Amino acid sequence: MLRREFIRFFSVASAAVAATASSAFASSPASRDNFVISDIRDKSNKMLSEIMKSNEYYKKTKTYSFFQGFVASQAPRVTLVACSDSRFQVAAIDDTPENDIFVIRNIGNQFSSNMGSVEYGVHHLHTPLLVILGHSRCGAIKAAMSDYSGEGASIRKELDSLSVSINKAKKASYSKDEWLNGVVSNVHQQVAFAKSEFAEAVESGKLTIVGMVYDFANDFRDGYGKVKVVNANGETDLNKIKEMPVFRGVL
Ligand SMILES: [Zn+2]
Repeated sequence: MLRREFIRFFSVASAAVAATASSAFASSPASRDNFVISDIRDKSNKMLSEIMKSNEYYKKTKTYSFFQGFVASQAPRVTLVACSDSRFQVAAIDDTPENDIFVIRNIGNQFSSNMGSVEYGVHHLHTPLLVILGHSRCGAIKAAMSDYSGEGASIRKELDSLSVSINKAKKASYSKDEWLNGVVSNVHQQVAFAKSEFAEAVESGKLTIVGMVYDFANDFRDGYGKVKVVNANGETDLNKIKEMPVFRGVL
């Protein structure tokens, strides 16, 4: 795979909906090949500087007792499988995620490629919740809905686990609604995969698997940044989800 295609894949910031027929990841005119090394170095330098400054601020604002709360061990309440897309960050769902969210991220919020990590959260950390969180305008979903046969083996393998649910017929382009439906369908499929793996924990009530979609583009018309619940233990009817004891007073 060309490097610029890879960069393009992880920067699907464009609102353009059409996907090319010949390649899942169209090369960008502003590819990294056009940058000079000193520009790249400056960009990295600026980011590293910001990382260290942000960490210094974080360190200053947290108290001794804050860290003492979890120095010995972790006790998160959620195992979260989310897309790696930088436009989603856990701050959107928890402003104090430390010791609260056990996070697994990959392209397209797949369950199967990180089963070991998910199992660790559910079986070893005993989180009562497993959340599969997709998001609007997901580049991995768009790629999985297109012809990605030209991609490298590692990416193809991960996209394969997405395309099971959303890629019935590869098309040259998709509408915004079809793209969003692909995102939702994939969340449903990943919840189904997880439910099958953790059937006993779900049936006994020890685990609830929740499918959500983070909508930073307001594609659902519920507001920019809204997180929408679309599935709970395989149930997709919102009225029935609302009746579940774990959702009491939540929706
Ligand atoms: Zn994504």
